Amino acid sequence: MKRLVMLSGGVDSSVLLYKLKKQERLEGLVAVYLDLGTPPAEREWRAAEKVASRLGVAVYRNRVPHFELGDRLFSPPELAFPGREPIQAGWTDPCTMTPITGSLAAKMGVEEVYLGVIKDDFASHPRLEAYLALVKKFLEFNQVQLKMPLSGLTKQEVVALGHELGVPLEETWSCVASGEAPCGACNPCIAREEAFALADAKALAR
Ligand SMILES: [Zn+2]
Repeated sequence: MKRLVMLSGGVDSSVLLYKLKKQERLEGLVAVYLDLGTPPAEREWRAAEKVASRLGVAVYRNRVPHFELGDRLFSPPELAFPGREPIQAGWTDPCTMTPITGSLAAKMGVEEVYLGVIKDDFASHPRLEAYLALVKKFLEFNQVQLKMPLSGLTKQEVVALGHELGVPLEETWSCVASGEAPCGACNPCIAREEAFALADAKALAR
């Protein structure tokens, strides 16, 4: 069976890939990094490559540059004025990524698509659940199953699972900015730091 894992270079999808490969020992895994032309794309791709290569999983970079424009056009209007930070990530990512990956999967004869959505994503983006239900139907129409094995876990639990599975979390990239070091100030950077701190504290308390 062919299985496609959407790998963003971030913590969640990296832990997902490790879980599928090392814990569930699934065969036929192929990872795809969808390059939407956002500022951290190059950094994310480097992270995705490192994580996948450690597992011996093939990873492909799928460039969809027109989504750089699409992301701006379809993002909430209050974020789309000049001078503001470029439109980034958040829940628009799974929304833009899943249909593209779904059609790619159907072409490749992939039967399962894995998405690293976690519990916190649903809490912070109330429309995400309804959206993914639609995507699921769209994929099923193409005989592809959408799987989200981390959807019941919080960020902290995902980080803890990552530690357990030996995921090189230090190689992952969460920041919405480009550059060699993360900015430390954007929402994904803050969520990452908090989750790491909580997971570390829990490990130390054991
Ligand atoms: Zn950042």
